[in-house]
Formats: sequence, C-alpha cells, structure tokens
Amino acid sequence: MEDDFNENVPHIVLVGGGIMSATLGVLLKHLDPRLTIDIFERLDNLAAESSDAWNNAGTGHSAFCELNYTPAGNDGCIDAAKAIEIAEKFEVSRQFWAWLADTGVLPDPSAFIRRVPHVSFVWGEDGVAYLKERFRVLSAHPLFADMKYSEAPDVLRQWMPLVMEGRDPSQCVAATYVEHGTDVDFGVLARALFAHLDSLEGVSVHTHHEVRNIFRDGQAPWVVRVHDRVYDVSREVAANFVFIGAGGGALPLLEHCGIPEASGYGGFPVSGLWLKCVNPKVISAHHAKVYGRAAIGAPPMSVPHLDSRVIRGEKALLFGPFAGFSTKFLKEGSYLDLPLSIGLDNLLPMISAGLHNLTLTQYLVKQVFESEEERLHELHDYYPNARLEDWELSVAGQRVQVIRKDDKEGGILCFGTEVVTAHDGTLATLLGASPGASTSVSILLEILHRCFAFEMSVDHWSERLLEMIPGYGQHLNENPALLKQTRARTARALRLH
Ligand SMILES: Cc1cc2nc3c(=O)[nH]c(=O)nc-3n(C[C@H](O)[C@H](O)[C@H](O)COP(=O)(O)OP(=O)(O)OC[C@H]3O[C@@H](n4cnc5c(N)ncnc54)[C@H](O)[C@@H]3O)c2cc1C
Repeated sequence: MEDDFNENVPHIVLVGGGIMSATLGVLLKHLDPRLTIDIFERLDNLAAESSDAWNNAGTGHSAFCELNYTPAGNDGCIDAAKAIEIAEKFEVSRQFWAWLADTGVLPDPSAFIRRVPHVSFVWGEDGVAYLKERFRVLSAHPLFADMKYSEAPDVLRQWMPLVMEGRDPSQCVAATYVEHGTDVDFGVLARALFAHLDSLEGVSVHTHHEVRNIFRDGQAPWVVRVHDRVYDVSREVAANFVFIGAGGGALPLLEHCGIPEASGYGGFPVSGLWLKCVNPKVISAHHAKVYGRAAIGAPPMSVPHLDSRVIRGEKALLFGPFAGFSTKFLKEGSYLDLPLSIGLDNLLPMISAGLHNLTLTQYLVKQVFESEEERLHELHDYYPNARLEDWELSVAGQRVQVIRKDDKEGGILCFGTEVVTAHDGTLATLLGASPGASTSVSILLEILHRCFAFEMSVDHWSERLLEMIPGYGQHLNENPALLKQTRARTARALRLH
C-alpha cells in the first residue's frame, strides 16, 4: 500500500471519470483546497461512457418537455411535484456552471451548453386533454410561467416544421413550447472540469486505471485496489472518503465494499439505440427537443423524442431511444457483469421485481426484436415524411436500472437516481440514471450533506457554497423575483441569449 496516507490531510478517491466524479471533485476542491484527490478511470478517455455526447440525449432536464415528470391521476389531475423538484435542481446546476464560467474555469460555455426550445407534443383527444391540463397546472408556477400552449397547426408548424410536415390535417394535435430550454454536452463539460482539476495542486487524474476492489483495513477508512491497465500492475491507495462515480460499474464495486447499506441492491441493464439523422438538410430544418408520451408498458427513460443537438459545435438530430438488451453494465463492460452481480442478498429482490414488471419485460423483448421498418414507423409519429435512407442506427449509453429490496413487494424497480452512503459518511455512490447529469450538482450536494455534515455546517464551507450557487437552499418556485434574477444572470454567464 502507498505510504502517503496522512490522517490530518483528508485524502479523497473518486472512482470513474464521468460527469458525477468531475462535479464532485470540483465542488470538494473549491470547498477545501487542502484536500488531496486521486481520480481513477478505467478507459483511456475521460467521460467516454454515459456522459459522452452521443451516449445520452443531452437534454438539460428541467421538466419543460418531459411528460413522465407530470403523471395524471385516475381523475385526470396532474401532479406537478416531481416537475417542480427537477426544474429547481436544474437551476442549481445552471448556477454552478455559471459560476464556473464567470471564474474562467469554463471560459467558453457555448462548447457545452446551448439554448434549444423544449416542446411536448401529443396527438389524439386523450393526449390533447392531458397536455392542456398539464399546461394549466404547470404554467401557474413561476418556474413554468413562460410555457406556451397551442393546438393551432400554423403555430405548431412554426415551432416544429418537420413534425407537422405531411401530417394528416384531421388528426387532433397539441404542443407546449418553452423557448429557453437547453441542450448540454455533458462529455465536453466533464472533460473541461477534469482538465481544471488536473491543474490544481493535490489532484491527480489517472486514466487506464481500473478500481478492482474497495475494502476496509485497520489504518485507513478505506483501501482502494487499482489496476494499471497499461503496465498490468496493481497498487493500493488509502482514502478517508471514496466516491464510486463509476456509472454502470458502481454496483459491482459497492458489493465489494460490504457495507450494510448496499445490501439487497441489484441492477438490470437496459441498452439504448438512437436513429441518428445523416441528412444535413433534415438536420437544419428542425430546432427543438420534441418529447412525446411513453408507450404503454415502456419505462420512463424510453419516452420518444425528436431531438436537436449541438455536438462538437455542429447541429445534429436524433430520434429514440429504442431499448436494447445486453448483460453488460457499461458500454465497454463485460458480458459477465449481470451474472456476476447476482448474489444471495439480491436474488430474491431481482426475481420479485421481474415478476412485478411483466409489461416492462414484454415491452423490452418487443423493442429488442424490432425491425428497421418498425423503427421508421415509430419515427413517422413524430416526423411523417421521414425516409429510412436519412437515418442510421447509433448505440447509446448503457443504463443499469436499480432493483431495491422491499419488505412488501420483495423487490422493486427504481427509475430515479439512488444515493447510497455508508453510515459513517466515508463512502458514497450513485445507482441508476435518470434524471442524472442535469441534476448532478444537487445530487452531489446531497452526498456532501450526508458525508461531510460537519464541514457543510461551518461558515467557510457554507460561504463558499453560496459563492458558487448564490440561490442555494432557496426554492426558486416560491420566489419569482429571485428566479427571474437567477435565470437572467445564469443565461448571461452561460451565453444562452
Ligand atoms: C440513453 C441515455 C440517455 C440519457 N439522456 C440524458 C439526458 O438527456 N439528460 C441527462 O441529464 N442525463 C441523461 N442520461 C443520464 C446521464 O447520461 C447519466 O446520468 C450521467 O452521464 C452519469 O454520469 P456518471 O459520471 O455517473 O457515469 P458515466 O459517465 O458512465 O461515468 C462512469 C465512469 O466510470 C468508469 N468506471 C466504471 N467502472 C470503473 C472502475 N471499476 N474503475 C475505474 N473506472 C470505472 C467508466 O469507464 C466511466 O467513464 C442519459 C443516459 C442514457 C444511457
């Protein structure tokens, strides 16, 4: 084991080189510049898994267009609570990124964030009634006050010409429109944050380094065994705090740690496919993220969308996602990931979750065997004139849906992000995916509150936090003046006008 462990200078290990580790590293280093941090990434590139641009949809999830955040009850009433929570969390991320832009850490915000309108689109009487009610409920809240609603074909044509072109004029359709939605390249953002971290004293970023084990020993809270994949040698690093930001690779590592809080978790991998447009004329004719309703039985992350992107400075267009199946937990992972993750403590929850989600299983099986023509047929719902030759298939990132032990049901499938921390606050990890990267700052602040409770309560940490996120701790939805001021300030700093 390396002998540089010093109890007086807390040493942090961040496992994984995605947006989560990058964000936590920057937060921690700015809260306490004395901290020393080692970051280990198994691949040769940083942010090459879920955080990379083509591996996710790049939607700045602010609940403007995602209909799964506003479920309707049996009586048709819309529950806006989740949408408000996500919109407020996205404002926290925007404030943090704006601070990074203002302080020169991210000198060119347009490299990772752009303004792209967010549109929800529905058809059929049922869909229109749902969207109209959703608009009525949401637009009464300050966070969504700029939302527009229309059923008029002329207006919809202006918002999304491709979606209306060639559509049956007798079909009843409706849409909402928020002009100040965003598209985010989380890969570019993460790599810029790592470059900044690497320039700071006391931080080392190691690519090609795979963490193979995390265990306790007498001296340090944790010992991390790392394998150098270039020189084929292993070493051990002692740490006061370990963050497992390994995306799909988090579950197997959590199982190694043996903390009681990890017991009963299982993971079910779902891979994704996009239809990626290759015709520049079509790409330039669309400028919006158009989200629809998920098919019956479909998981929330399978909500179809026709989505304008800006990747490496160029406009792009994708449609999807279509679900696929692989037993890998990471795109660059092993087919043994799923079988090796099953043990005595999670076998029953996994079987039980499977039995309780038969419609989901049927949906996934149907998606896996879908033909090119069937995918084109789904695209026609959003772009009636689409031609197969303008689109090619592209493999998206791998998601590992969390299965959690449940006293009543045996095991339940969770679609959000699960934060797991050791009781003594020396280890934390994230399981699951959605809404993920967009709300990364709030998720990691939750980890800081749980694991650095004392430090977060002292003046200099809370003062620094307010420098980074001036509206931190305030509910912007309840303070319209502060919301307006915050949005204007962050839009200026991130050049979103
Ligand atoms: C299809 C799809 C669409 C999505 N769309 C959106 C969206 O529109 N908006 C949004 O906000 N979020 C979206 N997400 C979610 C978002 O991509 C994730 O929440 C986010 O990228 C997770 O970041 P991460 O750092 O936890 O994981 P990752 O980016 O996957 O990073 C984990 C890293 O850990 C490394 N690693 C794994 N195991 C080890 C190990 N043992 N040792 C060392 N390194 C290891 C991996 O190689 C990887 O680089 C989407 C995800 C998917 C899959």
